[in-house]
Amino acid sequence: MGQLAELQTIDDLLADAWTRIGGKLNAMYGDAIYRSWLKPIRFAGSEDGRIVLSVPTRFVREWVGSHYGEQIATLWLEEQVFEGYAIAYVVGAAAVGASAESPVNEPVALDNIITASNWQGNEVVDSDLHMGAALDPRYTFDNYVVGKPNELAHAAARRVADSAAVVPGCNPLFLYGGVGLGKTHLMHALAWHIRANSPQRRVLYLSAEKFMYQFIKALRFKETMAFKEQLRSVDVLMIDDVQFIAGKDSTQEEFFHTFNALVDQNKQLIISCDRSPSDLEDMEERVRSRLGWGLVADIHATTYELRLGILQSKLEQRPEVTIPPKVLEFLAHKITSNVRELEGALNRVVAHATLVGRPVTLETTQEVLHDLLRANDRRISIDDIQKQVANHYNIKVSDMHSARRSRSVARPRQVAMYLSKKLTSKSLPEIGRKFGGKDHTTVMHAVKRIEELMASDSEIANDIELLERIVQN
Ligand code: ADP
Ligand code: MG
Repeated sequence: MGQLAELQTIDDLLADAWTRIGGKLNAMYGDAIYRSWLKPIRFAGSEDGRIVLSVPTRFVREWVGSHYGEQIATLWLEEQVFEGYAIAYVVGAAAVGASAESPVNEPVALDNIITASNWQGNEVVDSDLHMGAALDPRYTFDNYVVGKPNELAHAAARRVADSAAVVPGCNPLFLYGGVGLGKTHLMHALAWHIRANSPQRRVLYLSAEKFMYQFIKALRFKETMAFKEQLRSVDVLMIDDVQFIAGKDSTQEEFFHTFNALVDQNKQLIISCDRSPSDLEDMEERVRSRLGWGLVADIHATTYELRLGILQSKLEQRPEVTIPPKVLEFLAHKITSNVRELEGALNRVVAHATLVGRPVTLETTQEVLHDLLRANDRRISIDDIQKQVANHYNIKVSDMHSARRSRSVARPRQVAMYLSKKLTSKSLPEIGRKFGGKDHTTVMHAVKRIEELMASDSEIANDIELLERIVQN
């Protein structure tokens, strides 16, 4: 009995201490954060020299642990009630020692919760356990080379980044373009910029995949309230690669509600995607139209000038290596697929030069990159196909462009159209244009005709397959 009385006294002391700590936390972090995250924490008692705090959900436990855990621990130390204590956060409202039937629910020592957080008021959190994703320090506006293909997207991003509030007509800012053309780079640059210039604005950057993952996790642990609350408490929400949630119905639904809630509260949204809103076929119509509400800016395929500019800028960041302009021009000319591949090529050349310690020349570059160059060369052109097919059937290349209908030229022409469709990524109208300005229906007809012939006549099928192999080599 005496022991129990003593315990209660200690717990009373601890409860008073917690009230004081709460006041300090409130003063430190402000009302909004205090009310969302800290006020719901209850002092639940002490047990084996541990202070037990209860939190409403697992999500809040993780969040509090990683963002405020260290501060809370420090404040407890200052209270000097215990010596050498630990803090356990438990989920649920169970009070320790109140009765045998309410055991501590999954106590977690503070040490087990990631405390290495770098929350600084408007943090983009970077741990798998949390919502946001890490920002790449290299992806800044300073390191982004602007050229014709990306000038609109860049200008829009800068505009949004420079503004202290939502930019009218730019909410959401929807950036789209092919793989490796700099969408993620631009988004990170935006986030860095806002962090540096408006530290009071809370920025959350995450991929659509992570959005879905977090959402599913919240559903599983019945923490959707906390999930929603957290998403809706930010000032700037960035979702990268939104095409990922096309076709994922419930995630799309959640995204739609988050989207609406944020726009209603006049918060800034920035979305990236690999295609335009209207091309998001598996996305619900209402979501699609919402995505296109603000400013839609596309990033086009790179030009030679932009590629060269990017190479030069990347080299400026590595003053220890010199690469002759000829080599840079060669790379800009040859590696046309996307910026990521271009960067990769440059890195290989630089790595080779520094490892071997020999100056970089056109020859060494070609040697180091032979596989990459071959892959970029392997992209078959319609011109090649026409040449090879004409050669094979012993007709003139110019017959490919002519309007002559005699069987001896019409059939090879159809074969060339068929191969162009099969081996290049050109559209039917583009192919038609290459064959002396023919209509896309003519190309379509040719493709069908050859397919039929191949299906019914194995000799023709063999012949065309042989041609295909010739063209590919
Ligand atoms: P995406 O997200 O569109 O697939 P990323 O943003 O990941 O493309 O870009 C791929 C790589 O190319 C990154 O390393 C990025 O820094 C670089 N990059 C792309 N565009 C530019 C540019 N305009 N200037 C400098 N670097 C660029
Ligand atoms: Mg990306």
